[in-house]
Amino acid sequence: MYRRVLLKLSGEQLAGKFEGGIDSELAAWIGQEIKKVVVAGTQVVVMVGGGNYARGAQLAGHGIGRVTADNIGMLATMMNAVALADIFNGHDVSARVLTNIKADQIADQFTHRRAISDLKKGHVVIVAGGIGRPYLTTDTAALSLALELECEVVLKATKVNGVYDKDPAQFVDAKKVDAVSFQDAVSDEAIKVMDKAALGLAMEYTLPVVIFDAMVAGNILRAVSDDGIGTKIS
Ligand code: UDP
Repeated sequence: MYRRVLLKLSGEQLAGKFEGGIDSELAAWIGQEIKKVVVAGTQVVVMVGGGNYARGAQLAGHGIGRVTADNIGMLATMMNAVALADIFNGHDVSARVLTNIKADQIADQFTHRRAISDLKKGHVVIVAGGIGRPYLTTDTAALSLALELECEVVLKATKVNGVYDKDPAQFVDAKKVDAVSFQDAVSDEAIKVMDKAALGLAMEYTLPVVIFDAMVAGNILRAVSDDGIGTKIS
């Protein structure tokens, strides 16, 4: 069982049954799933995406510069982080938001010391603003943060239960691959589950990444238990 993990949740997943925004019922359910892990003694860092509100790469253009678009994307992650923390705390899952963009009225600034201290107290640490710089996604930010906080694994929640040998939406005979090497994950253009920049960081520092479906009861606990769920990139 891993003792400290980083769970990456995309904005799209938080939207659940809605087109955008947050599905608060689903968020409460995710909180209970995370609680199973905390109760088992594992410290949890959550990196939230913002794609349910804004993505820099899609927003840039027509007068909006890339840096501004990415800033908007980071603000989107902030909205998710504070909502998620409220929902978790309201359902007896102790959570703290630490932000990598300056927003004193809204959340405490991320520092390494504060994050470690909160984790040791058993709080779920939800990080807002990615890594706080443009031209990055929250996948890459997740890898960077996991290294900084000495997480043993990055658990990336996706719609599908891992990496497939061909697109499962198109081919009924698509088979899930249980394990992929860092090298293949970085070089294989067909593997699109995570940014290449994020996978490059994982490879450079040999930090394993598990791609799995978090929206099935017990799956986050299974991923933390390293029981072979999803696809492990290592
Ligand atoms: N972003 C950024 N720097 C970071 C993290 C995120 O500029 O360190 C911006 C970027 O524009 C990104 C947006 O925030 O598109 C939202 O994050 P992401 O697209 O990763 O969200 P997800 O797809 O996981 O919901």
